[in-house]
Amino acid sequence: MLRGIPRVVLVEFLGTLAVVGVFVGLGLWLDRRVSVLPRKEELIEAGRPRPLGADHEVGQAPHTALGCDRARMARVAGAQRCACKRMMTPQPEDEVRFGDRTLAVVRVACPTCGATRTLYFDLRS
Ligand SMILES: [Zn+2]
Repeated sequence: MLRGIPRVVLVEFLGTLAVVGVFVGLGLWLDRRVSVLPRKEELIEAGRPRPLGADHEVGQAPHTALGCDRARMARVAGAQRCACKRMMTPQPEDEVRFGDRTLAVVRVACPTCGATRTLYFDLRS
């Protein structure tokens, strides 16, 4: 069946196949080592709708209130750093109703630039 095809053409064809095969093999080997191509699980994860509250950091919105005790609330509120790098000062604690829960609310303010942030805590005694 190869009769009539010049030998040179056949060698070029097989040579090209060999070169392509080597590079595909190299690519697959490399991908297994350093993950060049996105994995199926990563693609599924990227296309999944984000859970409610994923756009807010924990504790920075009522629906992402941080569940903790009073000691941790004081530590978290006292450890807030402003975008301008200064430590923020906690204001007196307040309460807010969110659905059937009562959340503790602490506003922190930056003494330098005046920026504020509101933190929500779901206190467990
Ligand atoms: Zn600031």
